Amino acid sequence: MSRFLSGRYNGMLPYTPGEQPQDKRYIKLNTNENPFPPSPRAVAAVSQEVLENLKLYSDPEATKCTLAVAEYYGVDPDCVLMTNGSDEALAFVYMAFCDKQREIIAPDISYGFYPVFCELLNLKYNFIPLKDDYKVDVDAFCGINKNIIIANPNAPTGLAITVDEVAKITASNPDNVVIIDEAYMDFGTQSAVPLLQKFDNLIIVSTFSKSRSLAGGRLGYILSSREVIDDIKKIKYSFNPYNVNRVTDLMGKYAMEDVEYFKECVGKVVANRAFLTEKLRSLGFTVLDSQANFIFAKREGISGEKLYFRLKEKAILVRHFNKERIADFVRISVGSREEIDMLLAAVGEILAEEGVL
Ligand SMILES: *Cc1c(COP(=O)(O)O)cnc(C)c1O
Repeated sequence: MSRFLSGRYNGMLPYTPGEQPQDKRYIKLNTNENPFPPSPRAVAAVSQEVLENLKLYSDPEATKCTLAVAEYYGVDPDCVLMTNGSDEALAFVYMAFCDKQREIIAPDISYGFYPVFCELLNLKYNFIPLKDDYKVDVDAFCGINKNIIIANPNAPTGLAITVDEVAKITASNPDNVVIIDEAYMDFGTQSAVPLLQKFDNLIIVSTFSKSRSLAGGRLGYILSSREVIDDIKKIKYSFNPYNVNRVTDLMGKYAMEDVEYFKECVGKVVANRAFLTEKLRSLGFTVLDSQANFIFAKREGISGEKLYFRLKEKAILVRHFNKERIADFVRISVGSREEIDMLLAAVGEILAEEGVL
């Protein structure tokens, strides 16, 4: 630490991103990227001319993407705001609606970024524990009169709540915002977007990083009422008006419009998830019923940390969280069939070597 760092960051713990090794070749099953490339239409759109036009600023409204997202969900473009990854969307929403008085509540086991932003922005926050079966405790979120953020499906469990349950939470906290992070929604659950017509306090955040294979493009979005979006625009235009770059705005449009390719990739991931779940269960693992593009699994006889390190030795990266209640688990992204086969072979070897088969 230098002598110059502002005292307000004393003791702040930054988010720890999943490892992104740039040296050795790993099978990367640690950050829930899509194993398939972005839509070929999105890739083909990036011409020499598009790249040369990077000399110009991007469209502050990210109109191309905004229109494609609005069309896909059947909402008014004024109810959509594009962001630099959904992490930026979360930051904007927090900045707009939370402060020292307006506390925000999340499940205790969820996306690591939620409390990190609160620390950075000096907001008040608290947690509601997941139930014993690792599901979000819907009743405990009802009628609490607090801002709420829930990832649905949740990470790292992969477990989802229903649209009716989202409605119940939203209806019972009418004077606070309820933020639903749908980063993994496309892999098997129902979006809460239709509820936007009914509730002016609902905010939906989502991303192109997972189901649309554009993690490196950094593209996310917010869907809400026009009034809420206008409030968030004030934050955006005070922070980073050109937040979506030209190449990503263009690729995002095609990635959103190419519904056929999107469905094909999501379908493969869902099929691979079922295969991986079944195979791990037959190796004696407990695997939660994931609705996302990752699974959360543990095996009696080997700790989550040990399995993580042993897999890393074999050049396979998964994610381990050194956190109470989930330290036994590892989170494994659903890769391609070849990646899953290599993972399963490695897991079999490790269990044999550790004498736990
Ligand atoms: C991956 C992820 C995000 C955001 O990712 P971006 O790449 O910033 O769009 C948001 N929420 C959850 C729960 C995630 O897992």
